[in-house]
Amino acid sequence: MHDSGKNKIEIGQSSGSNERHKSEKIAELLFSDAKPGTHWEEKYPSRELPKGAYVTRFAPSPTGFLHVGGVMQALTDEAEAKRSGGVFILRIEDTDRARFVEGAEEAIYDGLDWAGVHVDEGGREKKGNYGPYKQSERLETYLTYAKELIKNGFAYPCFCTSEELQKVREEQERTKQPRMYSGTCRDLSEKSIEEYINAGKRFTVRLKVPEGETVEWNDLTKKNPITWDTKNIDDQVLLKSDGFPTYHLANVVDDHLMGVNRVYRGEEWISSTPKHLLMYKALGWKAPEFGHLVLLRELETQQKLSKRKGEAGLEWYKKEGYAPEALRNFLTRIMWAHPEGRDVYPHEDFIRGFDVHKMGEGAPQVNPKLLEHINQEYLARLDPEKRLEEVVNWAKAFEPEFAEICMKHRDDAERYLGIEPERMKKLSEAKALFGFYFSELYVTAAREELLSETAGDEAKMKEVLTAYVNEFYGQEDGHDAWQAKVRKLASRTGLKDKNIFMLLRKVLTGSKNSPPLYEVMQALGGEEVLKRINAIRQKPGTF
Ligand code: GLU
Repeated sequence: MHDSGKNKIEIGQSSGSNERHKSEKIAELLFSDAKPGTHWEEKYPSRELPKGAYVTRFAPSPTGFLHVGGVMQALTDEAEAKRSGGVFILRIEDTDRARFVEGAEEAIYDGLDWAGVHVDEGGREKKGNYGPYKQSERLETYLTYAKELIKNGFAYPCFCTSEELQKVREEQERTKQPRMYSGTCRDLSEKSIEEYINAGKRFTVRLKVPEGETVEWNDLTKKNPITWDTKNIDDQVLLKSDGFPTYHLANVVDDHLMGVNRVYRGEEWISSTPKHLLMYKALGWKAPEFGHLVLLRELETQQKLSKRKGEAGLEWYKKEGYAPEALRNFLTRIMWAHPEGRDVYPHEDFIRGFDVHKMGEGAPQVNPKLLEHINQEYLARLDPEKRLEEVVNWAKAFEPEFAEICMKHRDDAERYLGIEPERMKKLSEAKALFGFYFSELYVTAAREELLSETAGDEAKMKEVLTAYVNEFYGQEDGHDAWQAKVRKLASRTGLKDKNIFMLLRKVLTGSKNSPPLYEVMQALGGEEVLKRINAIRQKPGTF
């Protein structure tokens, strides 16, 4: 471990009386000449992978729900790694304790599982030899590199108090200056540093951004290089006074030690990249390639997805009734065009065909019509067993009683869902569309609805139903013979064909809209058809 046992500190643990002791310990670790006990580069040797293989990672912070844009990024990472014979890592970036949300880590694992994103390293099972894959479990590693940056003159301790920093910030706001560190501690003499440390002053460690340089990189998603003048790069805090790294230090150290060579992340991180590139250079490391993905937008408002309305979180899509594979298909579709112009395709096509260089620079849109269309087509194409599984999985979470009924009549349910399956745009519609087949859920149409087919004449309605039952047809006759018989019944009773068909439909399904009646009757079976008709026609008196 780092230095020796006696130097081991409880990084980030509770403050109070041992606060002074703690900053002394951190100082000792950072400024002593002792070599680190663990040589991280040896612990994590470089990977033996085929030439051109990409090591990618998804590195969410557990600060809330899993954002659907995060899933999109993870799909890109996974595709790059899979196609090239590389590795896809899931790393939890949880060093910002103030933003930590209980249960958020589980939500990340569950969400990725649900969406069908498969990681090679990290994740719930914590597979892989480059772990731990959670930053709060790697704290000593970051101290090692903070120390190295200080030693080489690329970082320095900053003793400014938060009150002092706040004052400067307010002044900058007032004078409309960019919010940047004033540089008070940038060039402190070794003597002053020693004095402050001996006095037990708390400190952070800041990146010493060189003056008068430019940082430039070719972003994978952009046509032109991105350039940054170092005068616009802040002396970023890398290590906090409690020994916890900030995102910037931890992210760079981990990407390097884990062998990541292609980084995808949201474009909101673009301004962090110059700082990261300076750190890679200062540590003598080869920087990965960066691809900053444009954030998802709502189609109508062109705004970023709203957390308030819910569309930003994966849970919303789940609840609305989008099948996981369909959502995954949609997310890949809005950043990639299938070579045959298809909207619905096997995920392998995306893995094989995705090319970041062909990605447009515009924002991918969450077009609800396209999402619905993909979901509908996906569900319609499934084999009966899988379609039922999708419906049951959804219903288990949101309509458990319906799930139970489907499972109880598994074979029948598969058949029912297979009759005009394209009627279902979302899984949440399954009960309304297919529920009537199940005797537990069937409710016949309201009295007025039924009577509207015989112009309010109840006796006539019952006469028609009785004739139908007595000469029962429908099951064994075949479609055309059945239809001809119903037509005859119509002329005999003085009703229009369409009224008889509609009456039967309303009696059997409880609704004006259903799949073709003959198919419905076949699915229900003769006994159930008769039972439903008899229940109406035998109702005593007016019902
Ligand atoms: N932890 C960062 C986040 O929450 C990761 C950014 C990156 O991928 O570098 O999104």
